[in-house]
Amino acid sequence: SKSTVEPNLSGDKLYQLDLENALYFSLNSEISLSPIITGEKLDALKLYLKTLVNYFPFYTPKSHTYLQILKEIVEGRSNMTGKNFKDQVKTKERGLDPVYSGPRTWIGCQGSSENSRGYPCGLWTMFHTLTVAAAEDFDSNVDEDQSSVLVAMHAYIKNFFGCADCAEHFQGMAKNMSLFEIQGGDDSILWLWKAHNKVNERLAGDQTEDPKFKKIQYPAASNCPKCKFSDGSWDEVEVLRYLKRKYSKVNIDLQGVD
Ligand code: FAD
Repeated sequence: SKSTVEPNLSGDKLYQLDLENALYFSLNSEISLSPIITGEKLDALKLYLKTLVNYFPFYTPKSHTYLQILKEIVEGRSNMTGKNFKDQVKTKERGLDPVYSGPRTWIGCQGSSENSRGYPCGLWTMFHTLTVAAAEDFDSNVDEDQSSVLVAMHAYIKNFFGCADCAEHFQGMAKNMSLFEIQGGDDSILWLWKAHNKVNERLAGDQTEDPKFKKIQYPAASNCPKCKFSDGSWDEVEVLRYLKRKYSKVNIDLQGVD
């Protein structure tokens, strides 16, 4: 059953701590669950780290250095174990302490119970942010390969995301919605928005849905009244404007940052 109740999104905000938590969990837990990282998996990890170095909105220069170092370590390898990777993550994190700007607490992605939201919410949030950062860069740097954020996300989800069903679905969408034909910039932002809304549509009313955070076709009219035409269809120019504002580095809320 489709939800008709719209949650109160009057604070549709982007939080530094949510972005950092998603990154932390991905680097410190999820990736290292792979016993062996080689071949396609290793390529996926290299691309992911490259994308993070280019576009993750870290708060301090040290944290950027941290990602840069991890990227260089992994680039120099032809295989590694998940445990190797985790050891590197921990050692470099200790060496540059503090890499993260606050405690491991979800803010925008906090669920109403222990088991809801959190990491998957953070991961979507992070990838939306990366597509917007890449598009901002695209406006000034036309030669850069902008498709890489979606390609990196696809490879990450396929090779590392802990929810196997989700990964399966996401690969199906990548195929049906021609992810690999996207040239980058604004098109990547809109591609991910559409894909995320398809997932929302499928999960609306599902038992995994947090009752306090209903799955909607995003963004809610209350947050972006101009995003839909009077016939109910999306005005993609306005949607793009909304997404570029919401997921822009300058819009990041620093609540909880030390
Ligand atoms: P989320 O859907 O996680 O969204 C996080 C935040 O992003 C929202 O609060 C909102 O601020 C913003 N947002 C919402 N929609 C959009 C949009 N269209 N564009 C831009 N921003 C938006 N779970 C399953 O049960 N089955 C699956 O097949 C599945 N596939 C997934 C695939 C991927 C790639 C990922 C990352 C997660 C997947 N999940 C799946 C998890 C699921 O999508 C949600 O992340 C989870 O249920 C938590 O939902 P949430 O309420 O926090 O909102």
